[in-house]
Amino acid sequence: MNLKIKKYIYPLIIWLIFEIVAVSLWLKKDNLFYLLNFSYIGTAIALGVYLFINNYRYARPVVQLLVGTYMLVYLGLICRENMQIEGFWYYLFLGVFEAAVIHYAVAKIFGPLLFGRGWCGYACWTAMILDLLPFKTPELPGKKIGWIRYIMFALSFVFVLALFLFQAGDFEIIMFRAFIIGNILYYTAGFILAFVFKDNRAFCKYICPVTVFLKPMSYYAVIRIRCDEDRCISCGKCKRVCPMEVDVTDNSRKRKNGTECILCMECVKNCPAGALY
Ligand code: SF4
Ligand code: SF4
Ligand code: SF4
Repeated sequence: MNLKIKKYIYPLIIWLIFEIVAVSLWLKKDNLFYLLNFSYIGTAIALGVYLFINNYRYARPVVQLLVGTYMLVYLGLICRENMQIEGFWYYLFLGVFEAAVIHYAVAKIFGPLLFGRGWCGYACWTAMILDLLPFKTPELPGKKIGWIRYIMFALSFVFVLALFLFQAGDFEIIMFRAFIIGNILYYTAGFILAFVFKDNRAFCKYICPVTVFLKPMSYYAVIRIRCDEDRCISCGKCKRVCPMEVDVTDNSRKRKNGTECILCMECVKNCPAGALY
């Protein structure tokens, strides 16, 4: 496709997908918030894609900042919506398709069937900060402690279940406090792990409970990095620049760390043979 058309068509497609979600939810829920919310996020992501196609170096951090701060500061702190996994369980137990349930359905459960772990690369407010630390790519070999994520996942579920079982006071205040405390703990753990393992994304690889949803769903992702094996000169650069240690030269869905790919495009940008797309 002509580069000039590509510059506009890809951002436009992404923007339209988000608009379809925005308008559908607005009409279905009769709530203008959904129109504004998904329009804002879609516009921010479309802008990032446009900047990326135009080779702007900070395209991804711009999107991370626009979406991450919106979710953390506006939705989380100002609107007091718990958009973390506890918020997801909370609304699920209430039996309503609202707030965190919609967020999880779009960004972390069904969306990844289309765009894999794009959430992790472009929108997560935890990674938005962790990505600023000095260890852009891991400096030590990966550890086999990914099982911790399942414990975190179970703890988040049991915490919310216990609130309902024991009818623990004002749920809304508790969920807001859980959001604040949860984020402080996540950032603290993320910083410590980044420096101990010399890897900005150690928290994502070993601790984050959301990956229990993200990894299996992104296995089937439509949008994924592919390698033109005829062009590849096996220089290994893609592996060296990958923050998630993915073997991107293997096109199989079973490729090593395949479900870790966050679509950051570092491998694509750095491949000297133009073999990745
Ligand atoms: S793995 Fe978790 S912390 Fe890391 S980017 Fe994804 S959702 Fe955020
Ligand atoms: S960087 Fe490109 S050429 Fe080098 S191994 Fe990776 S895909 Fe092949
Ligand atoms: S460098 Fe490539 S393979 Fe690694 S996470 Fe980014 S897009 Fe995925």
